[in-house]
Amino acid sequence: MAEKQNTWHGIPRAEVPWYPSVDRDTCIGCTLCYVTCGRGVYEMQDNKAVAANRYNCMVGCSTCGVVCPVEAISFPGRDLVWKMEREYKIFKLVRQEAKEKMAKLEAAKARAAAEEAIAKLTTQVRIEVAGEFGEKRFLVKLGELVQDRPYDIVNLHLNVPTVKGALEKTPSFMTFEVTSTEQLDIQDFLPDLRSLIRENELVLVSEKKL
Ligand code: SF4
Ligand code: SF4
Repeated sequence: MAEKQNTWHGIPRAEVPWYPSVDRDTCIGCTLCYVTCGRGVYEMQDNKAVAANRYNCMVGCSTCGVVCPVEAISFPGRDLVWKMEREYKIFKLVRQEAKEKMAKLEAAKARAAAEEAIAKLTTQVRIEVAGEFGEKRFLVKLGELVQDRPYDIVNLHLNVPTVKGALEKTPSFMTFEVTSTEQLDIQDFLPDLRSLIRENELVLVSEKKL
């Protein structure tokens, strides 16, 4: 991993002297620091750890120093970092960063809650109706039911087994989907639809949320 050109709370990273130093004579080349650091600070050279990308090191982190079995890794004193914090007056900046982080988290939470609420909504239902449709003008009534309301009927299919059979009043089969044109819950609409089916002496075979 190459060295990044980054900053630490607005201070050029190269001006913040926080990075590991490896004592080559003490290092036994166990590679623990090399494997542990997720920021690509280390390279192994001639079986020794080298902090090749030292400014990739996270300011304040000392994990590799803690895990090194022979204490070959050292860091500058923390007072040096504290001094920089005071000199560069980074606390105002950090507070702003914290505020932005919290706002982002809140926005993510609100988005997740909104998505969950939408997922709970019933916005489309497939309906199957059977019966003798004959002269009932069921389609017209269906159209009137959704007129001026935020719902629509889509993918409608009328399955008439035989024309002669239909004339002789054998049952036909209709499927359609009720959908909300405004992504609203259609639960309130369904009782009206069921009533229409009942009033026309048809049978609601199934009602499936999509
Ligand atoms: S202190 Fe942390 S970030 Fe820095 S080199 Fe060690 S493990 Fe990597
Ligand atoms: S953890 Fe210590 S001994 Fe192991 S490679 Fe790194 S510096 Fe060397």
